[in-house]
Amino acid sequence: MSYTIEGKTGTWEIVVGLEVHAQIISHSKLFSGASASYGGEPNTHVSLVDAGFPGMLPVLNRECVAQAVRTGLGLRARINLESRFDRKNYFYADLPTGYQISQFTHPIVGEGTVEIELADGTVRHIGITRLHIEQDAGKSMHDQDPARSFIDLNRAGVALMEIVSEPDIRNPEEAGAYLRKLRQILRYLGTCDGNMEEGSMRADVNVSVRKAGEPFRTRCEIKNVNSIRYVMHAIEVEAARQVEVWEDGGEVDQETRLFDPARNETRSLRSKEDAHDYRYFPDPDLLPLVVEQEWVDELERALPELPDDKRDRFIRQYGIPRYDASVLVAEQAIADYYEEVAKGRDARLAANWVTGDLFGALNRTGRTIQDSPISAQALGGMLDLMADKTINGKIAKEVFEDMLETGDSAADIVERKGLKQVTDTGAIDAAVADVLARNADKVEEYRGGKDRLFGFFVGQVMKAMAGKANPAIVNEALKKVL
Ligand code: ADP
Ligand code: MG
Repeated sequence: MSYTIEGKTGTWEIVVGLEVHAQIISHSKLFSGASASYGGEPNTHVSLVDAGFPGMLPVLNRECVAQAVRTGLGLRARINLESRFDRKNYFYADLPTGYQISQFTHPIVGEGTVEIELADGTVRHIGITRLHIEQDAGKSMHDQDPARSFIDLNRAGVALMEIVSEPDIRNPEEAGAYLRKLRQILRYLGTCDGNMEEGSMRADVNVSVRKAGEPFRTRCEIKNVNSIRYVMHAIEVEAARQVEVWEDGGEVDQETRLFDPARNETRSLRSKEDAHDYRYFPDPDLLPLVVEQEWVDELERALPELPDDKRDRFIRQYGIPRYDASVLVAEQAIADYYEEVAKGRDARLAANWVTGDLFGALNRTGRTIQDSPISAQALGGMLDLMADKTINGKIAKEVFEDMLETGDSAADIVERKGLKQVTDTGAIDAAVADVLARNADKVEEYRGGKDRLFGFFVGQVMKAMAGKANPAIVNEALKKVL
């Protein structure tokens, strides 16, 4: 899909690079033993290290490093066996040490790539520049007291991954697809829960515009956008603003901006500080981080099957269309559900029921696959009744609705409601004869060449038999008589 902006002076292209902060799933913080779990009473998950007491020394959490390496492998990226921690110095009330420990010159993960798929089926590869590990800061609370601000250090020192993309993204749709894919990979890996509402994944959005074929122009960075929809809106309005600035003969200044979703605009926050303003230097409390290739290989062998691989396997193994396969691997739990339904059954039919009727029902009732009222086993049981011709496709819809409501098994419902398909040719022949007798005029028309009436007869016979007749046998019987 191409997405450009038509200005007064011609066509503009959008250029976007994303910096995503993803909170690492771990029991304890990056450099202390305090709990890393979300929430909790203020200042209950704080060790002396997190509070920046003098003389405290950071001790690196091995599991956080493993999580970063797993993520790097999932992004098909280079793992740097030696990386370093630096101090990024700045003063802020929620940062007791006066510096954030981060990785600046030597990140643990180098170049990688993320494959995205757009609505029209186009596949693109977005480059990953790097992934590094750093600490989160605490939280200032200004709404607790009219006169004072409070500080909650529960989040201070929690491990984050910053995942930086190349400026390869060209429009809001691609940005959305990239973030969804990244979140999917993180969730599959179990390295970040990807929950943007709780802030465990947030994006800084770098936007610039240029005329086709030009070098990149100055970018603006929109800080801390906390939903995919907002990222897409922010790109749209920021790109439009920049086009206007350039076309009015002005210059876009490199600056940090905020997105205001209520007014659908971005506002200047501060002019961009240069890297040296942070006076980065290697943290003297921490040795360079050295990991063994063997350990990396071990982590790689233990990785789960990733979404792209799973999608490709589903296409091969189950013979389903690529689109269906993509939908089914969106979440690990959906993929597992589907595989349980499909195993030993008509896999295409299973895909239709899961992506169609089941997803429809879950959407309607605001449920997720985890609390689906119909288990994979139960849906499989219904498909078995279709396969052995106990019920036809039409009755299956009725059985499915009943399963949703009552939680009963398909077999019980068929029994209770007497829905067993009629394959008895005697009964069907009788119904056919009856329908034709009652519609002598239509029979006349049909025989006079109005072929379309065949469907009408099928419908009438099915209706006469309360939908339970085997459609193939009805067709046969009608053809014979007509
Ligand atoms: P910094 O470290 O100052 O934030 P980087 O060079 O690391 O700057 O880039 C940060 C992000 O900005 C990256 O995601 C990168 O892809 C993106 N970016 C760089 N140049 C541009 C540009 N001209 N337009 C849009 N995005 C850009
Ligand atoms: Mg940056």
